[in-house]
Amino acid sequence: MSKNTALLSSWIDEAKVVSTVCHGRPDGDAAGSSAAMLSYLISSRGKDAAALIPGRLPGNIAFVLEGANQISDVESAAARLRDTDLLICLDFNTLSRTEEFETIVREYPGRKVLIDHHKDPDVQDFDLCISETAISSACELLYNVLLGMPDIAGDARKLPPATARALMTGMTTDTNNFANSVYPGTLKMASELLDAGVDREDLIDRLYSSERPNRLAAMGEMLSDRMRLLPCGVSVIVLHQDFFDRYDLRDGETEGFVNLPLAIKDVRLSVFAREDGNFFRVSIRSKRGVSARLLAKNHFHGGGHEQASGGRIFIPQDVLRAGDVEAYVIALAARFMQETASVN
Ligand code: 5GP
Ligand code: MN
Repeated sequence: MSKNTALLSSWIDEAKVVSTVCHGRPDGDAAGSSAAMLSYLISSRGKDAAALIPGRLPGNIAFVLEGANQISDVESAAARLRDTDLLICLDFNTLSRTEEFETIVREYPGRKVLIDHHKDPDVQDFDLCISETAISSACELLYNVLLGMPDIAGDARKLPPATARALMTGMTTDTNNFANSVYPGTLKMASELLDAGVDREDLIDRLYSSERPNRLAAMGEMLSDRMRLLPCGVSVIVLHQDFFDRYDLRDGETEGFVNLPLAIKDVRLSVFAREDGNFFRVSIRSKRGVSARLLAKNHFHGGGHEQASGGRIFIPQDVLRAGDVEAYVIALAARFMQETASVN
């Protein structure tokens, strides 16, 4: 057992009430790692465990936390933290990513453990950092941590079934169903979880074949009318609130849209921005050789992985009016590609 896993295990032993927290607008890896940690803590370690979930889960992901004690409003989360002996932070590297929970998480006086796969975690904000970046997902990292626990002892078949399924869920969504960030350990984990009885066909059906028709209609209009292809190998898509209203799109229903332009041979960078109140949320994906992370960090107040990152555009600080966002992103992305080309 590694030193970190041994320490985490002893802290779990000492705690009665354990909580987890993941990043805001949780995706499959955030929800999956929360669900996996919770079911392990309850079934294998007999703890009182709850998941603090900032924001609503996308419809196709919600199943993974069904029946679990999930807390999404700030007051209840603050009350829960007053009773919490150990807080496990999952799938983010900086507390600001917990959005409306940031203050209460920051002020939580007990032990904070981070289990995450993003670059440059804010180590000073945690009592223990379990962080690796050459790995598919927080779920894969958590899988390795759980295998190291004394009761699991390297045998995935000893994981509670709900834990195994949740780990497979987050790894599957974060790799975009085995398309990106797949390492030898990722396939080993998939193989061992299949062997442990995870029903992958059911999982794929829930994740990728449970959409509402309006999502596909929105995707159609987006690809035919909203995608701007620049000669420098960039795709820019900006969606305003009226688009979301017209198609009645819910949280998470534009998940994955940012990946679509990369199917085009000459596109090396895809930037997708969507209006959210008085700012725009930006998602960025790139092909090898172009750093989505640097574009997010240097120009969109964000960060992430080399090939998948995100950030924000603030109005009026970055752009005066929402109507100017598209031109702003096009100009920034084109300049970024020019600089990238001169570096490479
Ligand atoms: P997505 O485009 O799926 O929302 O986010 C992709 C990745 O970008 C996330 O896994 C995360 O690493 C990163 N990311 C997204 N939004 C932000 C942000 O606001 N700040 C930072 N630092 N990273 C972000
Ligand atoms: Mn992740």
